[in-house]
Amino acid sequence: MKCKKCSNTAVIHLRQHNTAYCGEHFVDYFEKRVEKTIDEYSMFKKDSKILVAVSGGKDSMTLWYVLTKLGYKTDGLIIDVGTGNILFDLLSQFADKIGSRLISVDAKKYLGGLTVPEIARIIRRPTCSICGSVRRYLMNKTAFENNYDVVATGHNLDDEVSFLLGNLLSWNLGYLRRQAPFMPRTHHKLVGKSKPLVWLTEKEIYTYALLNKIPFDSEKCPFSKNASSLKYKRVLNDLEVDQPGTKLRFYKQFQRLELFKTDLVELNECSVCGYPTTSEKCSFCRMRERVEDALGKQKN
Ligand SMILES: [Zn+2]
Ligand SMILES: [Zn+2]
Repeated sequence: MKCKKCSNTAVIHLRQHNTAYCGEHFVDYFEKRVEKTIDEYSMFKKDSKILVAVSGGKDSMTLWYVLTKLGYKTDGLIIDVGTGNILFDLLSQFADKIGSRLISVDAKKYLGGLTVPEIARIIRRPTCSICGSVRRYLMNKTAFENNYDVVATGHNLDDEVSFLLGNLLSWNLGYLRRQAPFMPRTHHKLVGKSKPLVWLTEKEIYTYALLNKIPFDSEKCPFSKNASSLKYKRVLNDLEVDQPGTKLRFYKQFQRLELFKTDLVELNECSVCGYPTTSEKCSFCRMRERVEDALGKQKN
């Protein structure tokens, strides 16, 4: 197959766009697509201060790289929740290479010295849900305290459509409403969140990472095995093979729904930590209290 732009040998065939590109033209296409996503949803501007949540995986490393290459002002944030090896060396070397800065946060400091898997065991909750809640909380806290305009995460099209399908199957409108590619700041202590890679698939991101020699760790989190999201991804991949463009259509049409235009719920400040919440205490502080209760009971 040949590149549609220059007739050199293509490195990737994008059936959903009925096209194919050589390395050089694919990189060009990819970067334009990221810019277009940022503009389409008014995520941020060239002078915005952006905090990129990085794990060392291909999506977040690619996001960090491409935003920096496109001239955005980024710093990387790594949160150590204690679920496995933390790729500090890989990330700090990469930060130096792309002229960015790495901020590292140890979640234990905010969790009474406990790791996320320890907390999950103590209060008998799934590790993934505790992990997600701790990460969201610390990401926002770090961004707010360091005056960032917006947080960026590496969610890709495959992540988003699998989440969409899962939540549609149970009509979980509350979760769906919070799935927008860009959530603007609705409270001065709640920093905006953006997902600039939502129009790109895993395959596209992987190809871009290889072409640009972006280092990444392909190890999956040991706690995410058998997650139902993998089943949804498989189903959606089958549909995509049959009808190229299904994922993009599913995602883009969803964003047009009135769902996001309804008024947002009112936010209070948590009575313990002061960060925004819809209740009297935020979910992070309630989780900490449950841990203290459970540990107290063990002692008695
Ligand atoms: Zn070409
Ligand atoms: Zn709180």
